Amino acid sequence: MKISIIGGGNVGSLTALRLAEACVGEIVLVDVVKGLAQGKSFDMEDARQVLASNYDIKGTDDITSIEKSQVVVVTAGLARKPGMTREELLQKNAAILKDVCLNIKKVSPDAILLIVTNPLDMMTYFALKVTGFSSSRVFGMGVTLDASRFANLISKELTVPVTDISPVVIGSHGESMLPLSRFTTVKGVSLDELLDENKANLLVKKTVERGKEIVSLLGSGSAYFAPSAAITQIVKCIVKDEKKTLGISAFLNGEYGARDVCIGVPCRIGKDGIEKIVELDLNNEENKAFCASAQNLRLLLKELPV
Ligand code: NAD
Repeated sequence: MKISIIGGGNVGSLTALRLAEACVGEIVLVDVVKGLAQGKSFDMEDARQVLASNYDIKGTDDITSIEKSQVVVVTAGLARKPGMTREELLQKNAAILKDVCLNIKKVSPDAILLIVTNPLDMMTYFALKVTGFSSSRVFGMGVTLDASRFANLISKELTVPVTDISPVVIGSHGESMLPLSRFTTVKGVSLDELLDENKANLLVKKTVERGKEIVSLLGSGSAYFAPSAAITQIVKCIVKDEKKTLGISAFLNGEYGARDVCIGVPCRIGKDGIEKIVELDLNNEENKAFCASAQNLRLLLKELPV
């Protein structure tokens, strides 16, 4: 299995290492900056003897090296710089994504695409439109990460192992995400039965703000340890045909009452990509919040050059 990662920055390079160490196949890391991906791949290769692992990784600035990949992860893009508006960032990352996606289409026309570049749901939609691939093969990593963050905060609040928690987060990967305490369970028991409303709401708020909190602590750059772990989980699910249900940004065509938008929902993932979009039985309040999140994205999509 050949897995390529476009963008050899913080998220892309740590993802490459995690996937290489998991021995899921041949890994190709590509960055537009000459020498960057190659230098990082040499460094990762140099660890193989110590780790007693024969993993296969290559770094390059030549995007055609991703030829015939089964999975392509896209982390290429700019982070928002001081003074840059959201609109400017959107246009710049859309231009990068367009170029990257047209190359993917040319040399890996059968690949499954996992988009990571922000703004996530919009870039996923854009990649879908630019490639023209089936929507089961183009999806985004966003609420997977948010769910893991929610679980971490719950485990600390309840002092229970994080592995006992099954978190559910839907909606856009941004301020209107919806960590769902009613569907989130600890050993099968709903969080709503374990925490009073105020405490649950506080954890929801902390989850929504977690990315920003990390950015402000770091001073420059954004999170990459947990994002790369979430990407790795999704890629493993595809490569090993695990058929797990994970939250991802998927194209909706009537599901959850939404149309023509990519947004976070639970999906069963296997070797062909999205096998099923799982529709949760949302109550009125949850449904209203989800529709508002989808509606907000629909408005923002008008800014995309498609
Ligand atoms: P980074 O700046 O460390 O890395 C981005 C890399 O992309 C750079 O090395 C840059 O040279 C490269 N790049 C730019 N244009 C390229 C092109 N045309 N081809 C190949 N490479 C190109 O940033 P990062 O921290 O790795 O984050 C990458 C992206 O992922 C950002 O958009 C960030 O906002 C996003 N992100 C998303 C999530 C999520 O949950 N979806 C989480 C973390 C980061």
